[in-house]
Amino acid sequence: MDVTLTEDQLRLRDEAGRFAAERLAPHYREREQRGSVEPQVRREMGDRGFIAPELPVEIGGRGLDRVTSGILTEEIARGDFSVAYLQVVGSLVGQILASDAASEVAARWVPGICRGEHIVGIGLTEPHAGSDAGMPRLTARRDGDDYLLTGTKSLSFGGDAAAAVVFARTGEQQVRGKGISAFLVPLDLPGVTRESYSDMGTRAVGRGAVHFDGVRVPAEHLLGAEGKGFSEVLRGFDFSRALIGLQCVGAAQASVTETWRYVSEREAFDQPLSKFQGVSFPLAEADTRLTAARLLCYRTLSLRDRGMPHTAEAAMCKWLAPKDSFEAIQNCLLLHGQYGYRTELPLEQRLRDVLGLQIGDGTAQVMKLIIARERLGRQLAP
Ligand SMILES: Cc1cc2nc3c(=O)[nH]c(=O)nc-3n(C[C@H](O)[C@H](O)[C@H](O)COP(=O)(O)OP(=O)(O)OC[C@H]3O[C@@H](n4cnc5c(N)ncnc54)[C@H](O)[C@@H]3O)c2cc1C
Repeated sequence: MDVTLTEDQLRLRDEAGRFAAERLAPHYREREQRGSVEPQVRREMGDRGFIAPELPVEIGGRGLDRVTSGILTEEIARGDFSVAYLQVVGSLVGQILASDAASEVAARWVPGICRGEHIVGIGLTEPHAGSDAGMPRLTARRDGDDYLLTGTKSLSFGGDAAAAVVFARTGEQQVRGKGISAFLVPLDLPGVTRESYSDMGTRAVGRGAVHFDGVRVPAEHLLGAEGKGFSEVLRGFDFSRALIGLQCVGAAQASVTETWRYVSEREAFDQPLSKFQGVSFPLAEADTRLTAARLLCYRTLSLRDRGMPHTAEAAMCKWLAPKDSFEAIQNCLLLHGQYGYRTELPLEQRLRDVLGLQIGDGTAQVMKLIIARERLGRQLAP
C-alpha cells in the first residue's frame, strides 16, 4: 500500500483543515454548552462535501475513496470532535441505505444526509444490551403493509435525528444474532418519544433513548431481507470503525501539536520545558503512537476500497486509536500544568469526548473478541 497522499487528498485535507480551524475550533465549547451542532454548520459541511463523500455521486456523495473520507474525518475532528460525528454517522448510515434501502427510500433520505439537511442516526444498541446487541428487545410485527415497532433504542443524535436505522426482532424465537431486521424509521411518526441522556462528553451530539410504542412503519422501509438485518447491515461497521479511529486521532493530534508549541515556549528552571526529557519524551511517544494508529486506519480503509477482508483490522482501529488518543490527550493536559485543567483550553473537553468512543460502537473487549474470532474461528476464540 502506498502511504503517500495524492495531490487531491492533500488539497482536500488542507481545505478541511482550514474549515476546522476557522469555523469549528472557535465554537467547540459553545456547541457543547448549547448541546447541539448548528444546522448552518451542518449545511456548510454538506456544501463542502465533507459528509459521506465516498457515496456515489448519483445518490448525493462525491464518489471519493474511503481513505480520503478518513482524512477528512481526522481534519474535522481536530476542530470539533462532535461535528466529526456528522461525517462518521453520515457515512455509516448513508452506506447502509445506499446498499440496502428500496431505491425511493434511499433517494428520499441519502442526498439530504450528504447535504447536511438532516441527520439519520443508528440505533443498534438498547439500554439493556450494547455488547450483546444481537439480543434486541425491540420487536417489529408485520401488520398488512406495515410493521409495528415496540421497544427502545439508544443512539447518538437522539435529539436531533430526523430518522434512524434501527434493528428489531422480526423472528419468533429469541436466538442471538438471528431473526433481526433493519428498518429506516422517520422519528416524527406517531408513537415515537425521545429521552435525552446526560453524558460527560460529546454533548453537542446529544445521545438519547428513542422509545417506539406500536410505531407503524411502511414495509418498504425494511432494509435488506427480513431476518437478515444483523449480519448484512453490520458489515458497514467495519468502515465506520476506521473512521472513528481517525476521528480520535484528529483530536489527539491537535492536542499534541499544541503541546509541542507550549512546552517550547513555557520555561521552568531557567529553560524551556521541552529541554526536559520527562516533558519531550511522552510527546515523542504520543506522536509516534498516533502516526501508527493513523496508518492502521488508512490501511483498513484502503483494504475496504479494494474490496479485501478488513474486519480484524477495523476492530484493531476501534480499540487502539481511541485508547492511544485518550492517553495522548491526557499527557498533553498534564504537560500544560494547571492551564490544562482549565476549561479555557480544549484539552479537558477533548479528553471527555474521546473517552466516549472507547465505549460507543463497541468496547475494547468486544473489538478484541472480533480479532480473536477472525484469527482463530469461533470455536477457539474466547
Ligand atoms: C459516546 C457513545 C456513543 C454511542 N452511540 C451509539 C449509537 O449511535 N447507536 C447505538 O446503537 N449505540 C450507541 N452507543 C452505545 C454503545 O454502543 C454501547 O454503550 C456499547 O456497545 C457498550 O454496551 P453497554 O453500554 O450496554 O455495555 P455492556 O455491554 O453492558 O458492557 C459492560 C462492560 O462489560 C464488558 N463486556 C461485555 N461483554 C463482554 C464480553 N463478552 N467479554 C468481555 N467483556 C465484555 C464491556 O466491554 C464493558 O466494559 C453509544 C455509546 C457511547 C458511550
